[in-house]
Amino acid sequence: MRVAVLSDVHANLDALEAVLDAAAEADAVFVLGDIVGYGAEPQEVIDRLAGLPDGRLIAGNHDLAVADRFPLDWFNHDAATAARWTKGRLSATGAALLRRLEPKEGTEGTLLVHGSVRDPAAEYLLDELGARASFEHEDFSLCFFGHTHVPTLFRRTSDGSIRGGLTAEGDRVVLEPEARYLVNPGSVGQPRDGDPRAAFLVFDSDEPSVAWRRVEYPVERAQEKIRAAGLPPFLADRLAAGR
Ligand code: ZN
Repeated sequence: MRVAVLSDVHANLDALEAVLDAAAEADAVFVLGDIVGYGAEPQEVIDRLAGLPDGRLIAGNHDLAVADRFPLDWFNHDAATAARWTKGRLSATGAALLRRLEPKEGTEGTLLVHGSVRDPAAEYLLDELGARASFEHEDFSLCFFGHTHVPTLFRRTSDGSIRGGLTAEGDRVVLEPEARYLVNPGSVGQPRDGDPRAAFLVFDSDEPSVAWRRVEYPVERAQEKIRAAGLPPFLADRLAAGR
């Protein structure tokens, strides 16, 4: 089975459509949370993802905040402003979906979390030290995570050593049966690794392997929608820089 693994769509419908086009051959889609927040089309993105025939969705901290399940004062000013704006834009069914999703879920023998295994809603998994805490927290062989908006892989070998870091477009890693992995596809709707293109990965569960992909999308269109909505202009500006 080939699974498109997406994270941090952040209400960016233009980026999401480009990714779903590029991943059209996938048999299923995993979405690692932060479906909404920052971007101008939260309800449209929820509808698109909820309508996927083989979609598996979990919640991120922004989704939880919009559903009153995560403290807004945890956010910076722009993020909190966007969360409040988002709340006013959702349909009753859109809001109900965000209230239902959890930030952690096991599916097909694979763990999905938004932040980390230790703290699925909030922790940023950035380095080997954080990865160790997640590897020790629970016994999994493969976990997909998001939240940092940066494509990453951490690998724990049977001797307990952990190595990892950033990955690049086109990187493909065959997963060894005796090793354990924490894998981040990067962000669809708000990349922060200096590359404005939408990021995702394809997980081949038969091989098994993971392969990182980037795809162009009309950034200016997404920016115009953010400005027209009256959201903080920085949220539009940063899309062009991938920061
Ligand atoms: Zn996010």
